[in-house]
Amino acid sequence: MAESFYQTSQLINWQQLNQQILATKKADIESIIVQAKSGLGLSLDQFAALISPAAQAYLPQMAQVSQQLTQQRFGKTIQLYIPLYLSNWCSNVCTYCGFSANNKVRRNALTPEQILAEAKAILAKGYQHILLVTGEMLKKVDTDYLCAAVKQLRPLFKHISLEVQPMSVADYQRLKQAGVDAVLVYQETYDPNTYQNYHLKGQKADYQHRLKTAERLGQAGMDKIGLGILLGLRDWRADSLVLAQHLAYLQKHYWRSRYSLSFPRLRPALGEISIQNKVSERDLLQLVCALRLMFPQVELSLSTRERAAFRDLLIPLGITTMSAESSTQPGGYAEQSAQELSQFDIDDNRNTPAICEAIAQQGYQAVMQDWQAEYNR
Ligand code: SF4
Repeated sequence: MAESFYQTSQLINWQQLNQQILATKKADIESIIVQAKSGLGLSLDQFAALISPAAQAYLPQMAQVSQQLTQQRFGKTIQLYIPLYLSNWCSNVCTYCGFSANNKVRRNALTPEQILAEAKAILAKGYQHILLVTGEMLKKVDTDYLCAAVKQLRPLFKHISLEVQPMSVADYQRLKQAGVDAVLVYQETYDPNTYQNYHLKGQKADYQHRLKTAERLGQAGMDKIGLGILLGLRDWRADSLVLAQHLAYLQKHYWRSRYSLSFPRLRPALGEISIQNKVSERDLLQLVCALRLMFPQVELSLSTRERAAFRDLLIPLGITTMSAESSTQPGGYAEQSAQELSQFDIDDNRNTPAICEAIAQQGYQAVMQDWQAEYNR
């Protein structure tokens, strides 16, 4: 059995990582950008240079190469998906999240009838790719519940992703069998000390268990695995470097799986915390371009947490996947439930035709279906 990335993560000296990034000289960056044009990817040291403050002066060049590499691999397309929140029950305390167990909000888990109503409302908007989302409470949403929901939705949608509690290899195998194409599990932050400050109770407080989840997904043979960090929890640069390290590790050990990356920025939610480590739009643009130069074949996803004009700006610069018209409330599409159920605020409130139009205006095509799930089986 291969050593886990957890062991690698224990050896990380965060101060040294910061120093490495900050020590980047402008002279190093140009040659890295030229090398990235080959589309063969970069080393982790080169990625560290591209996310440095010094590299901000080279953002136009990085954006140009990011655009070229993305078009070579993905064409001029943006895959659209929509989240379907099945449940907001959660036994974890994450201080940045509206669903946190401490928050007094109305909770529910959708019944099969409610799931069908949500599915019909989503299908009416034209979506074929859905992301099923829940809080983490096994008493309310267990593997049986999720398998039943996936089997119910499988005939209606072409691609089903999950963002739910971390599970065992056997559970992931069951879900794959039921029809799941992808599972997203964000570490939020790779810095164990920062992690403990924001994840106070419940299974998610166990850093190690969460970190090993992507490996369990690889062992289960999941077709696509999504990784991510929540920008704003700590300094984004060193966290992004460890995210890149994690992905490089997984690509080496679980090479049959495909990967996607997400980098949501912290947004207001019920019980809001102040954002200690602000990440600007310029920082986020730099991160997107650096990730594309490092990982030419990986999906880069942008959520509706970002404002519309910024999302439009990023369309041709490295992003491949966007959520749209998101409701973070269980039942939010069919029932228009009360606002208090939402997980966090969204910023891009445009409807689907408006987002498709914005994508078309950039000379890109909005794709509602790019995969026939039957090919996976
Ligand atoms: S982030 Fe996820 S696990 Fe944490 S409180 Fe929110 S829903 Fe629960």
